[in-house]
Amino acid sequence: MKHKYSFSFNEGDGKNKKLLGGKGANLCEMTQLGLNVPPGFVITTQTCINYLEFRVLPVDLMEEVRLQIQKLETLTGKYFGGSSDPLLVSVRSGSAVSMPGMMDTILNLGLNKTTLAALIELTDDSRFAYDAYRRFIQLFGKVALGIDDEKFDKHFEAVKRNAGIKADVALSSDHLQEISELFLNVVYEETARPFPEDVYDQLEIAIKAVFNSWEGRRALDYRKEFHITPDIANGTAVNIVTMVFGNMGDDCATGVGFTRNPATGENEMYGEYLVNAQGEDVVAGIRTPKPVQEMRKEMPEQYRQLQELRNKLEAHYQEVQDYEYTIERGVLYCLQTRNGKMNAVAMVKSSIDMVTEGLINKSQALLRINPEVLEQLLHPQLQPNHHVKPIAQGLPASPGAACGICVFDADSAVRMAKADNDVILLREETKPEDIHGFFAAQGILTSRGGKTSHAAVVARGMGKACVAGAEDIKVDVHKRQAIVGDIHIKEGDLITLDGSTGNIYLGRIPTVAAVFSEELKTLLAWADSTARLRVHANVDTPETARLAASYGAKGIGLCRTERMFNASDRLPLVVDMILARNTEEREAALAKLFPIQRDDFQQLFEAMSPNSVTVRLLDPPMHEFLPHEHQLLEEIEVLKQYLTTVKGMQVTLDTLKNHTELPAPFDQLSVELILKAIAKKEMMLIKVMELYEVNPMLGHRGVRLGMSYPEIYKMQIRSVLEAAARCLKQRLPIEPEIMVPQVITAQELKKVKQYVDEIRIEVEEQYRLKLNFKFGTMIETVRACTRADKLAEIAHFFSFGTNDLTQAVFSFSREDAENKFLPLYEESGLLEDNPFETLDILGLGKLMKMAIELGRSQRPDLKIGICGEHGGHPRSIRFCHNIGLDYVSCSAPRIPVARLAAAHAKLLEDKPL
Ligand code: ADP
Ligand code: MG
Ligand code: MG
Repeated sequence: MKHKYSFSFNEGDGKNKKLLGGKGANLCEMTQLGLNVPPGFVITTQTCINYLEFRVLPVDLMEEVRLQIQKLETLTGKYFGGSSDPLLVSVRSGSAVSMPGMMDTILNLGLNKTTLAALIELTDDSRFAYDAYRRFIQLFGKVALGIDDEKFDKHFEAVKRNAGIKADVALSSDHLQEISELFLNVVYEETARPFPEDVYDQLEIAIKAVFNSWEGRRALDYRKEFHITPDIANGTAVNIVTMVFGNMGDDCATGVGFTRNPATGENEMYGEYLVNAQGEDVVAGIRTPKPVQEMRKEMPEQYRQLQELRNKLEAHYQEVQDYEYTIERGVLYCLQTRNGKMNAVAMVKSSIDMVTEGLINKSQALLRINPEVLEQLLHPQLQPNHHVKPIAQGLPASPGAACGICVFDADSAVRMAKADNDVILLREETKPEDIHGFFAAQGILTSRGGKTSHAAVVARGMGKACVAGAEDIKVDVHKRQAIVGDIHIKEGDLITLDGSTGNIYLGRIPTVAAVFSEELKTLLAWADSTARLRVHANVDTPETARLAASYGAKGIGLCRTERMFNASDRLPLVVDMILARNTEEREAALAKLFPIQRDDFQQLFEAMSPNSVTVRLLDPPMHEFLPHEHQLLEEIEVLKQYLTTVKGMQVTLDTLKNHTELPAPFDQLSVELILKAIAKKEMMLIKVMELYEVNPMLGHRGVRLGMSYPEIYKMQIRSVLEAAARCLKQRLPIEPEIMVPQVITAQELKKVKQYVDEIRIEVEEQYRLKLNFKFGTMIETVRACTRADKLAEIAHFFSFGTNDLTQAVFSFSREDAENKFLPLYEESGLLEDNPFETLDILGLGKLMKMAIELGRSQRPDLKIGICGEHGGHPRSIRFCHNIGLDYVSCSAPRIPVARLAAAHAKLLEDKPL
């Protein structure tokens, strides 16, 4: 059979988004559902890939396109390039995943001198015809011929200025004719060729341009940022759609809508429209559109049709839809639908609502939310009673608060962000070419455009705060300033945005953490009852433990005791412990640390009661608690200078003493103090040099410290056990666990277990009770994986420390890898992902599986979890579920993400990862 390059909307398979692109597949599906879609056809993504290989169209493609156009001619009764009723089409891109604004659409293709005249005669509306014509020339010029918008815009603005006109709709037919001619000249000047008159030439050029845009810089950037690989989307389809006109008069309109409010999730009509306008006008934010509610009064019958369309779309797709439509002379056409991109608040609310409405079930409600977005819900909000007056207000386009310095273009945003600034990108309106600025900015502010403008849609997708259409702000990119009333905002000035209210403030306003909504609690409760994996938290303080518990953590999977050591009241004691010259001195210092640690653990147990708390014994090399050598040298130098000064002062004061009543501010004591300080710093310096290691991460750390300085581990063990005893005395249900880091051999574990057993007896006697706790090990060395059965003879539980284990498996040092070669490895496909972010399933995963098998062969009820950063990463969580882990542990802000991901893991366990 001959290769098929295209499908008409009534034959294409609406489920095959890979082949037809999302837009094309949905146009087919809607057509076949009986919704009013203008006739059209889709050229497949496969054709795009064929074309891109050699940048030539398949020989017989245009032949097939001609046949498809003939079908459209039959369906519409119009003729492509015809001198009476001409067929005009739009040429639209669309790949398997929607990429807002990534590839441009050409409208009104098929206009030339002949068809223009025919259109004027047919509609008896030369204004309309010239309006369509000038749009076509500019879009074709820009998208297909690569001519800058600015080249056209300057003529457009000049004609408006000369005529003293503000709004585009006020332009007369003559103005638009003049503009069209100026535009034709622009094309001639810029390409040294006349504008193509042959309509099939136009079509062919346009098809190629859409194909080429797949490899344009913007598209490549976007795919890279969002990890869109060829198996997700490969090539763009081209949709050729009969034009319908929203700009034929006041019974015409064009609009975009969401089936629910994408900012709140509320089940209500939502969207914006413009009377007498063509598609791009709403999306580009050139005129500020009206909320759809106004259509109810202005065009009641069309409003009713729109409601019907909305209900049909949701009922069919069982998902919130983002749709585009045009009303031509009172008739509603649907031009596009796709799953709506909403912020996390709206996703959660609509999930709960749609289950209540009976539209979807709980599993669907969980699965439709990408776990990652839940982190947005923990984004800061402006402090409620800040009493700062906004300087302006725009539309609340994407919620969350953001504060940063103002920049006026995307490149500056990137530059300033690189220099460690929080930035707010402030522009009149944004375009797809600003995308890198979005990545760099904390928030986006525009002075024009609506809630469905480019800025709003993209910011929402990224979960960044955005205020759009703040019309009181006059942006002057050239002067790099914006003016609101008499306030001048210059580049580098601090401003704060509230994407939930649309308010804009000068300066910085404090923010507070977001509250956990009832809806989120419900959703996550569904997730918990679906999931098999439990979610624990990596936290070290009672405050963060309480926070984690409020986010739904079912335990602490990793408490790093060294974090407690770093608090300012403990560090001096820790330093004393390290500087100790012998065991007695060390024990004296440890005795002071002991009650502090015990109280810490007690508070942690209380915060997490009745759930488990896994305390890891000291892990980092000791020199981490001491200052750096160069810092010490500097401090000693400063102290010595100070000593000289003090001594000099004393001599002076001594001389003066007999002559005046001056009090002596410096006495012998201060000299002594300085001398003491110098002595201490010098001791530290000696210790720092003694502790120096070539490769500290592979050096004297973890359980190795416990072997060389048993008294440190013993103090920690006693703290844990006494804290537990104190809780038990209060009848508080707790589940303490002691975990040993960096273990390579069962002998190490046995030794620590001995300490534990000895101390246990002492504490049980002292408190007259029986302790109940678990003893276990981290699995973070390769040897531990290979010897897991032996370790499981002693350990009740394993916790995979995948940060260190990844370094060990790859023989990478994380910092060096990420700073030096990993970006290259990822970019060139040598590695698919950064293994420190996404668990390396193929390599490290294999080792994990082996450790689990060995461990459970020895101890079938061995409890196994993960506490590396991967424990909060959805894909890694799915893997952990599949290999039979009991829990994942992650940082507090990742807990909601992990809870939902754990439910996904269960629901998707039969699907390939
Ligand atoms: P995007 O991917 O940027 O949404 P679209 O292909 O949807 O681009 O087109 C841009 C605008 O042009 C949209 O508002 C769309 O509704 C409008 N449009 C596209 N095709 C037609 C058509 N055949 N008739 C009328 N308007 C159209
Ligand atoms: Mg577009
Ligand atoms: Mg669209």
